Amino acid sequence: MTNNALQALFTQQYGSDAQGVVSAPGRVNLIGEFTDYNQGYVLPCALTFRTQVLYRLRNDNNVNVISTMYPNEQESFEVNQAIKEGSSQWGNYIRAVAFVLNRAGHQLNGVDLLIESNVPQGSGLSSSAALEVAIAGMFNHVCGLNLSEEQIALFGQEAENDFMDCQCGIMDQLISAKGQQDQALLIDCQNLQTQAVTIPTDLSIVIVNSNYPRKLVDSEYNQRRIDCEQAASKMGLTTLRDANLTLLAQTKPQMSADEFARAHHVITENDRVIAATKALANNDIEQLRILMTASHQSLKHDFEVTVPATDGLVQICQQALGDRGAVRMTGGGFGGAIVCLCRHEDVAVIQQAVEQQYFAQFNLQADIYVCTAGNGLTVQPY
Ligand code: ADP
Ligand code: MG
Repeated sequence: MTNNALQALFTQQYGSDAQGVVSAPGRVNLIGEFTDYNQGYVLPCALTFRTQVLYRLRNDNNVNVISTMYPNEQESFEVNQAIKEGSSQWGNYIRAVAFVLNRAGHQLNGVDLLIESNVPQGSGLSSSAALEVAIAGMFNHVCGLNLSEEQIALFGQEAENDFMDCQCGIMDQLISAKGQQDQALLIDCQNLQTQAVTIPTDLSIVIVNSNYPRKLVDSEYNQRRIDCEQAASKMGLTTLRDANLTLLAQTKPQMSADEFARAHHVITENDRVIAATKALANNDIEQLRILMTASHQSLKHDFEVTVPATDGLVQICQQALGDRGAVRMTGGGFGGAIVCLCRHEDVAVIQQAVEQQYFAQFNLQADIYVCTAGNGLTVQPY
């Protein structure tokens, strides 16, 4: 929707114009999967797909929300009361963010809100974090809370952990809050320190969405986290961040096969993130290819979060690109998207290979997004 159309919709719904818009992006993770909640390293970049929140302050405590994605639903709640679960799942993201801000002692004002997003949903590109960060960023701005980008991200994560039944780490919310145009961000999830890495200008980021229907994702995701915590505890550690392969081998007899394999993925993946950060800075596609291929294999065999459709897509793209590109699954797994890094002239090679082979093999239509890294959370007057 154009800005004018959004403003017109806002005015039609609420009787007066929006005062401004706060927006936050989805993200693609280049490497470092399931390492964030183990206090490890990740290397994501923000996308130019964004979730916008148009707002107008009210002079009471009511929050009214509509989303262009759910045209016939409106959510309303009182912002300074204990917030109960709402009628729609999407509305609960907004309630949950308001709730965790309230719980931390922040006084919130009532607002009228309109949400519009072009972040693909349920594809591992984190439309949920984009929504949480945009909503927390909006309250921060309109209520003068003076929160840092890190605090905004942490409130978004807390909302998702405590109310949406997903024990996600901090990566999605932090990159959505802090992303920078044309940069990937190496995040140390132990202390939230970040280091920007410029994406080489001759490199394309191509995301291929498998459109495989994701089922039971949250319960499987949460079980993986429990496996990691058990493995760390059996090694006598608080988190897998401090683990290494020698300690893992010594502790193997006490571990279940799953715990061992999950920990093996996390330990090796952390090393790959550090190596990939250097390779990206050096524009070394050969090294990126080796690391991203190993990451995918580890996610398939050790972490067991791939499905035939994403394995197949990775194989199709790897075969088409040969040594000219780096390919792996990205995001929370069990479907979702894969990410390819290649030279601009090879984007057409991916498009052609996916078109010719994916539907024929999996009876699913893929969506291809040729992306650049975008900015994080922004606030603009209308
Ligand atoms: P992902 O984060 O991978 O896109 P999730 O299942 O974690 O997938 O989050 C998707 C959910 O986030 C949607 O089902 C919906 O509840 C909420 N959501 C995302 N974008 C919007 C939007 N524009 N309007 C309302 N709700 C949204
Ligand atoms: Mg999500």
